Amino acid sequence: MDKLVLFDLDGTLIRAHNGFIPFNEAILKTFGLAGDIRTVIPDGNTDPLILEEIFATAGLEVDVTEDKWRAFTVNLQESYSWAIQGGLTRVVSLPGVLELVSKLAKIKELHQGVVTGNLEVTAQLKLKAAGLAPYLNLGAYGSDSRKREDLPRIARERWEKKMARSIPPDRCIIVGDTPRDLDAARKSHMKCVLVGTGRYPVEELKFFSPDACLSDFCDTEIALETILKVS
Ligand SMILES: [Mg+2]
Repeated sequence: MDKLVLFDLDGTLIRAHNGFIPFNEAILKTFGLAGDIRTVIPDGNTDPLILEEIFATAGLEVDVTEDKWRAFTVNLQESYSWAIQGGLTRVVSLPGVLELVSKLAKIKELHQGVVTGNLEVTAQLKLKAAGLAPYLNLGAYGSDSRKREDLPRIARERWEKKMARSIPPDRCIIVGDTPRDLDAARKSHMKCVLVGTGRYPVEELKFFSPDACLSDFCDTEIALETILKVS
């Protein structure tokens, strides 16, 4: 029976050091405003809503038109790409992640992808920089919907289209680092494993009652077993 594991990116698989620099640069280039992502808590949110929150926090009324949104996407891709190449922003996979996804890739009928609030362009840059792109080329992104709860369903439907067969939601497992990942999983009738490598320690994540919790992915066997047994 098929299983689909859908990983969140930031705080779950990877950490972007100084990721705020290209994000803020793209805001400045697109809107001519000095918005700062460090003024909000972006964890678990989608990039479109993060942008809205940055402007609201700064008391700025900004009309993010379709054209502006397209320009922001282009600018963010460009800025992020330059920042990674120049070493200004460093994207690393979290301990054990590479081992985990490479082991999952070897399991028959086990499939994996991402569900992230990042725009698709930045998600792909980050995955590539962290060495994870070969394992995670399917997913749903903040550029597909501003509402995180839409993303698990979009990822599942994309997988079904690609594989030309269906998979029930309860055979899909969201792996994330925030209560928002859990909320999106629940609204999509999917299973959820939370990991304490982001803003929330595992003791706090347990309080939200996900199907399982992990402190981190350092022990590959325990991580594998935990993820596979919830569905
Ligand atoms: Mg996250």
